[in-house]
Amino acid sequence: MTIADLPDEAVRGRRALLRVDFNVPLNEDGSVGDDTRIRAALPTIQLLRDRGAAVVILSHFGRPKGKQVAEYSLQPVARRLQELLGEKVTFVESTDSDEAIKATHKAGPGSVILLENTRFLPGEEENDESLARQFALLGDFYVNDAFGAAHRAHASTAGVAAELKPAVAGLLMQRELEYLGNALANPRRPFVAVLGGAKISGKIDVISALLPRVDRMLIGGAMACTFFRAMGLETGKSLVEGDRVDMARELLSEAGDKLVLPVDARVAPGMDAGNSARVVARDAIPADEAMFDIGPESARAHAGILREAGTVIWNGPMGVFEKPPFDFGTLEVARALAAATSQGATTIVGGGDSAAAVAEAGLEDEVSHVSTGGGASLEFLEGRTLPGVAALDARKG
Ligand code: ADP
Ligand code: MG
Repeated sequence: MTIADLPDEAVRGRRALLRVDFNVPLNEDGSVGDDTRIRAALPTIQLLRDRGAAVVILSHFGRPKGKQVAEYSLQPVARRLQELLGEKVTFVESTDSDEAIKATHKAGPGSVILLENTRFLPGEEENDESLARQFALLGDFYVNDAFGAAHRAHASTAGVAAELKPAVAGLLMQRELEYLGNALANPRRPFVAVLGGAKISGKIDVISALLPRVDRMLIGGAMACTFFRAMGLETGKSLVEGDRVDMARELLSEAGDKLVLPVDARVAPGMDAGNSARVVARDAIPADEAMFDIGPESARAHAGILREAGTVIWNGPMGVFEKPPFDFGTLEVARALAAATSQGATTIVGGGDSAAAVAEAGLEDEVSHVSTGGGASLEFLEGRTLPGVAALDARKG
């Protein structure tokens, strides 16, 4: 169920306990750096306010591991949220206290309260039942908009949803599930996945799960090198996961020509030696150099397939995009996604670094959907149940 399924009397004058993902990067001076995640929660906060609820917000932040750690206080986030909303945001320095409960009862319709980091509490990551009951006292109904935390069964994502009813999805959660869910359930074809990034190990499950569903799977990033090794090619000093080579070999024989590997590579003696980078065929990677990007011919081939796609899911950059000239393949893919989108394709970007690359290219608004949850979107694509989603009320009928 979503907020739209709640009748007015269930919302107006009531306290919405809203779980968000405000796990944002901070600047050196302690102020909020990239505020994408805060902005992503604004529509839900506004909708709840417009419908006359008091909004009581819970979030995790960093990994304080059940202890109060000053550097992981949500105080700077409260300040940024207040700026973005243009409304007063009351910050409460505790979460499971009488003081917090009192503050929520004092809050009138339309007011916004942010409580301190849920991970300051030892029961949070253990999905402790009594903490979940404590959280449930902070609201009259529960809304989960923390897609990025939905793959974890924690007290504020899973436990509380069993204690506080109704328990519904917020707008961001809904949007994430719709995009990812529709791509898996009835993708417009050709359905193309692009997978890259540093490690193949974290993505084996998603490769296996997507392979039977997609028409093409384009490979880039360091994981291409593990495939190259499986093909018996020289990979030089490239990042290869030796213990995944057998798995890569199996995937190669299973996938046939669905799997599109790079045909050339941009290599250099080190990733800071961009000046001496050059392009070689994939079977000519020098023994004393490493592949840091897919080559231009591969980038063009990937882009060509992407431009014809009906649905695209992209996770993981094609190279060390942080360091030009190794950003070329990633930028080509980003531009191809934008072009496909303008032709009517549905294009979805998952993964923190891929999303950062798209943002850097200024193409955020030219793709259909940039997922806010790296790990959660991968687990969803692997076909796993997300505990934070499973705990919400199912739509009746
Ligand atoms: P995402 O966050 O989008 O899921 P990953 O975290 O899996 O992506 O991978 C991103 C990282 O992979 C980037 O830091 C990038 O520099 C690195 N990477 C990509 N290609 C290579 C390569 N050929 N060699 C070394 N690192 C690479
Ligand atoms: Mg990453």
